[in-house]
Amino acid sequence: MYIFKQKAALKRHLRILRERQIRIGYVPTMGALHEGHFALIERAISETDIVICSIFINPTQFNDAQDLKRYPVQTDSDIQKLLEHEMNILFLPSVNEIYPDGLKHLEHYSFGALETMAEGLHRPGHFQGVGQVLSRFLEIIKPDRMFMGQKDYQQLLMTRKLVRLADLKTEIVAVPIRRERDGLAMSSRNIRLSEEARKTAPELYKTLYFVSTNLDKQPLDALLETARKQLEEKGFKVDYLILADAEDLQAVDRFTEKQSLVLLAAAWLEGVRLIDNILVNTILS
Ligand code: AMP
Repeated sequence: MYIFKQKAALKRHLRILRERQIRIGYVPTMGALHEGHFALIERAISETDIVICSIFINPTQFNDAQDLKRYPVQTDSDIQKLLEHEMNILFLPSVNEIYPDGLKHLEHYSFGALETMAEGLHRPGHFQGVGQVLSRFLEIIKPDRMFMGQKDYQQLLMTRKLVRLADLKTEIVAVPIRRERDGLAMSSRNIRLSEEARKTAPELYKTLYFVSTNLDKQPLDALLETARKQLEEKGFKVDYLILADAEDLQAVDRFTEKQSLVLLAAAWLEGVRLIDNILVNTILS
């Protein structure tokens, strides 16, 4: 596995591959790698010729300084895992390498309404940060395909928008959520859960599943209210629990079978923020 820390050297390397018509797959991550990341990496290996993974904890997408400070860093074991999965290239830049002019006065994107709902509402500025970092990595790597998880569903939609806005050639491939055996969506943040909280955490998925299987049986507002109460009784503090249009994330107030929908939730459990979602009448594409 090649490890690049500098973008100029990586660019030179990739230029040669591109000239040989080698298809480049790219998986962006913030590290603390788990099987959810490897779902993306395996898909990338199966669909492209060379796969590059990046590990970069992007400061501009953290609206909460404490969250950034507490974000797990496990570079040595990440490298070991990538070697075991026969990763081709790892890009491991410093903050200065990506933001040489500092973190102030960065570009602003017109993401529209998509930016102000769900995650956007609770993490102001988050998606601007995602846009700032992904546009830089896409400019450096210019991958044929970039692989993103359904786990961060809104981020997936925003990234598609970013690619359209900037008229980039990269195709975005969405990969389904990989879960623990008890249903908990895998996440780097799960390692911060206490033993007790880890036992409770799968209730988030179980509750979403309960809602998704009862949508045609009860009025939506009553169903969501019951679900929210169930979560709160188990110790969650719910940021949002909504049924929304799968394309533009506008919350809907009733369920209709013909509409592509997504059930989205974010909730805190003992200071750890968990997100999850279930697609309803929608095939991930
Ligand atoms: P992160 O390192 O959390 O920024 O995640 C990097 C990429 O991995 C994002 O595209 C995530 O959506 C994706 N990802 C994280 N967890 C999972 C999971 N459990 N299943 C599938 N993809 C995931």
